[in-house]
Amino acid sequence: MVESVFMAELSWPEWEQKVKAGAIIFLPLGATEQHGPHLPLNVDVILPTAVAEAVARNTGGLVAPTLQYGYKSMPRSGGGQSFPGTASLDADTFSHTIRDVIRDMGMHGARRFVLVNGHFENSWPSVEGLDLGLRSLRAEGIRDITAMRLEYWDFVKPETLDRIFPDGFPGTELEHASLIETSLMLKLRPDLVDISKIPQEGRASFPPYDIHPPPPGYLRETGVLADARGSRAEIGGWLLDDHISMITQAVKKEFGL
Ligand code: ZN
Ligand code: MN
Repeated sequence: MVESVFMAELSWPEWEQKVKAGAIIFLPLGATEQHGPHLPLNVDVILPTAVAEAVARNTGGLVAPTLQYGYKSMPRSGGGQSFPGTASLDADTFSHTIRDVIRDMGMHGARRFVLVNGHFENSWPSVEGLDLGLRSLRAEGIRDITAMRLEYWDFVKPETLDRIFPDGFPGTELEHASLIETSLMLKLRPDLVDISKIPQEGRASFPPYDIHPPPPGYLRETGVLADARGSRAEIGGWLLDDHISMITQAVKKEFGL
């Protein structure tokens, strides 16, 4: 028997056996999106996949193939769609992909799901996808599904944020391609980070509303929204420890493990 937490590396009888024994399916939700000049386009794929992998190991679960594309990048949280290399899905396409994956795995016996979101803009469309997936399964008479859906960055201890941001944590939205994501990448995939290209600029500031299309000067030219200077692998390690331990605890609680 192949011992892998990645379901795509198992044969179908191995998958079926694990799922029938109660294995939780972790579905990481990524994006292919610009992350400034110093990070690759797949940051939002690598980070939730790594968290899901570790939590799946801690809970006997399986990691489903990560969704490589996400809902559209927004100027105030991701830089926006105008950056070359950013390739996104319409909300319908994104939520329907989740719906279809959950429906098919549920039809084949999966009863426990955890959606691990790694891209801010996926949040609500992933709620829709999960809701539609569960509705499709109910129409087939399958009502005993338990599903969690979470943003991995919400699982962090206040004292960790105090240590990283001694002047106060300004919030998740502007963290795009900034200190947190850069430090996590330095911990997990330093080969994909070019710290010499970190922009030498502070936090962006936006009015509390959107303008469509974004007017000239509205977008951050570099695609980095806060400040990535001072990123270190050690900081990424602190964050990752919190994400993994706190999500593991939440999953064990909700699924009675
Ligand atoms: Zn990101
Ligand atoms: Mn993103």
